Amino acid sequence: MWTVASYIVRQKLAGRKQYPLVLMLEPLFRCNLACAGCGKIQYPAHILKKDLSPEECFRAVEECGAPMVSVPGGEPLMHPQIGEIIEGLVARKKYIYLCTNALLLKEKIHLFQPSKYLTFSVHLDGQREEHDLAVCREGGYDIAVDAMREALRRGFRVTTNTTLFDGANPKSVRAFFDEMMELGVEGMMLSPGYSYDKAPDQKHFLGRARTRRMFRAILSNRKKNWQFNLSPLFLEFLMGKRTYPCTPWGMPTYNVFGWQKPCYLLQDGYAETFAELLATTEWSRYGTESGNPACANCMVHSGYEASAVNATFSSLGGFLATVKATLFSGYRDDEALRLLEEPQTAVHPLVQIATTSETLQETRA
Ligand code: SF4
Repeated sequence: MWTVASYIVRQKLAGRKQYPLVLMLEPLFRCNLACAGCGKIQYPAHILKKDLSPEECFRAVEECGAPMVSVPGGEPLMHPQIGEIIEGLVARKKYIYLCTNALLLKEKIHLFQPSKYLTFSVHLDGQREEHDLAVCREGGYDIAVDAMREALRRGFRVTTNTTLFDGANPKSVRAFFDEMMELGVEGMMLSPGYSYDKAPDQKHFLGRARTRRMFRAILSNRKKNWQFNLSPLFLEFLMGKRTYPCTPWGMPTYNVFGWQKPCYLLQDGYAETFAELLATTEWSRYGTESGNPACANCMVHSGYEASAVNATFSSLGGFLATVKATLFSGYRDDEALRLLEEPQTAVHPLVQIATTSETLQETRA
């Protein structure tokens, strides 16, 4: 927190209006899951085969300068040089979130050393049944939780990373928070899903009003022991207590195509350098207020958490609101308790993409 706070204060003192907070570094697009709500793996085979080299990763990290690096994909543990990449990022004192579905974590954990800079951010979309449905893989939850236990036992930092779609059961999500805290994770990250036009499942993306309603039910009447790995003001944004414009440059994306315009979710071209990305993207065309239909329902973490963090450091009011949200974060709300009792629409049926053994074998190559 101190590293991030001092970084932001330095940016403000330097008068920088657009500064990155987290680099989204996608070293590959291959994955050993094919989740129904994912828009990242529908590339042709020759693109899926590509990897960023460690040197390309380090150059991007240095160009960008963000204090935190999130390493999603694809599944980063399938990258043949992932150990080297993470070691290089730790040496550069970047706070790294290695975003993994954890199917290969036990097998590859020897590639990593526990460090305060490295966190395994494990993709879990809820309790066992909900997660397996969301990732279209029966047994995925149990493999991931087993690997998380092993990582915790070895002294690694472990957090969760949960994407919620329409039909998510708020009661079950709250029970999932209890399970994760009991397991010993350090914090939990949440985001509503984005309606990727390439995702196989187009029926279960959330509109903004439904997103706020769902997060109000989930995050009100909060238990004291729940730890979230997110800005408290971003959580209030999800609950409909605050509005923010999108800050797409706050979490810029670098992948095998270059610097992606304008954000992690959309692909309106690429830039060769981070400076070029900042200078040549028409930022006014993006964000909910822009009228861009691709942004209309978006409330995702990669667009709006940087806005919430910026709000904390932009005024005394923002700072005090963050302190209040951190210290008095029970959010008692009787209407939200009633929402928890509403009957839930069933989520989509399980689509089994491949058997566990076949797919795991494919990924060991
Ligand atoms: S609103 Fe969402 S899709 Fe649009 S630029 Fe921001 S993060 Fe990207």
